[in-house]
Amino acid sequence: MKFQDYNFVPSLKRNLEALGFRKPTDIQYKSIPPILKGEDVLAVAQTGTGKTAAFAIPVIQILSTRKVVEKEYGIRCLIMVPTHELAIQVAGVTQELMKGTGLKVLGLHGGVKQDPQIEQLKKGVDVLVATPGRMFDLASQGFLTFNRVEILILDEADHMLELGFISDMRQLVSRIPKRRQTLFFSATINEHIKELAYGLVRNAVRIQISPKDPVSKNIDHAVAYVEMDDKRFFLEHFIKENPKSKILVFVRTKVRAERVLKAMERVDIKSQTIHGDKLQDERSQVMKNFKDGSNKVLIATDVSARGIDIPNVDFVINYDMPEEPENYVHRVGRTGRGTLKGIAISFCSSEEKETLDIIESFLDKPITVMEINKAEYEATIDFSKGSDHDWKSLMKEQQARKSTKAKVKKKKKK
Ligand code: ADP
Ligand code: MG
Repeated sequence: MKFQDYNFVPSLKRNLEALGFRKPTDIQYKSIPPILKGEDVLAVAQTGTGKTAAFAIPVIQILSTRKVVEKEYGIRCLIMVPTHELAIQVAGVTQELMKGTGLKVLGLHGGVKQDPQIEQLKKGVDVLVATPGRMFDLASQGFLTFNRVEILILDEADHMLELGFISDMRQLVSRIPKRRQTLFFSATINEHIKELAYGLVRNAVRIQISPKDPVSKNIDHAVAYVEMDDKRFFLEHFIKENPKSKILVFVRTKVRAERVLKAMERVDIKSQTIHGDKLQDERSQVMKNFKDGSNKVLIATDVSARGIDIPNVDFVINYDMPEEPENYVHRVGRTGRGTLKGIAISFCSSEEKETLDIIESFLDKPITVMEINKAEYEATIDFSKGSDHDWKSLMKEQQARKSTKAKVKKKKKK
């Protein structure tokens, strides 16, 4: 079924076409009808499968056709997200899909002045995309009311319901009209979080796509055993072997992010960092540079792993193994978005083997190991020796394996 065959308002159809969205993705196909019917939905689908539009499309359709009895203005849909970057992104997508409908959306997050946000709120906002911090702050100052809310959405729902946020969420829910519709979207969810989610809704429709493997098929991911002190050499080598590629590097802490940046600087590799210690202006500029490709190497902490949709990230490198197994899925999910393919490589040191085990048991399968023999390993550390057993050949091997797989698949199809 094509989007043009749906019974949507004309502006929404036009916007979908302008964005190049012709057919719904699986998660969109399955979520749109129950949401339009007014049902509560808990949707779990892999990273990069179009969850944003899966809720934004039906919300726009509902808000532009459902009659509002009261004349008084107020927020009709509240979308909660965990990070500043995601608030900006989700508000942006919603804005694109909303053009010409007369509806208004605002992205609300901390780290910037509140006055312009208050001005916007006073002018009237139909859809508010917000991080909890700034939202509760403005609500306590009396600039936000929730008595008109018809739809509450939690994007990255498991993260939003994790300890620390849950009491905020309960408090929020108590201020929203009982006759609301509640939607949860995420790529990962565990039993405990599922229970919490069900505690906030009645009879939610559960939609789960590819529950067995939380990592999308578009992502080829592998682990390389690299000792802690050698990681920078491997990163340097990898970046130099892939000078035109967009590479997202994840590290464990803010301090390590800055340290890796310095190490790369010393070997003439330009990169930028993003983490919670940076001012919002800087964070936005860094995101922009990475998106438009003026900076090709971004070193990040988990702050930006959730939900961010950056076009054409060729490689994700887990310079440090993620401490939370869910974050493995969210980190590698920054590549291989939509129909694109991506590659993710994790550097695992001896100290991190235990973390790797936990991740593998979370994924319910082992991660492919990129074999590096002793000679290759030493050659990478000692550049001056020069080597033809380098990352390039490793990547080629990986690619070859992939294309054999593809060939086998093709044959099977025949
Ligand atoms: P998720 O939230 O599932 O990780 P996003 O909502 O960020 O994924 O979408 C991933 C990418 O897919 C985005 O770049 C988006 O523009 C694209 N996309 C979403 N829906 C469609 C569609 N129906 N057709 C084509 N591209 C789509
Ligand atoms: Mg998302």
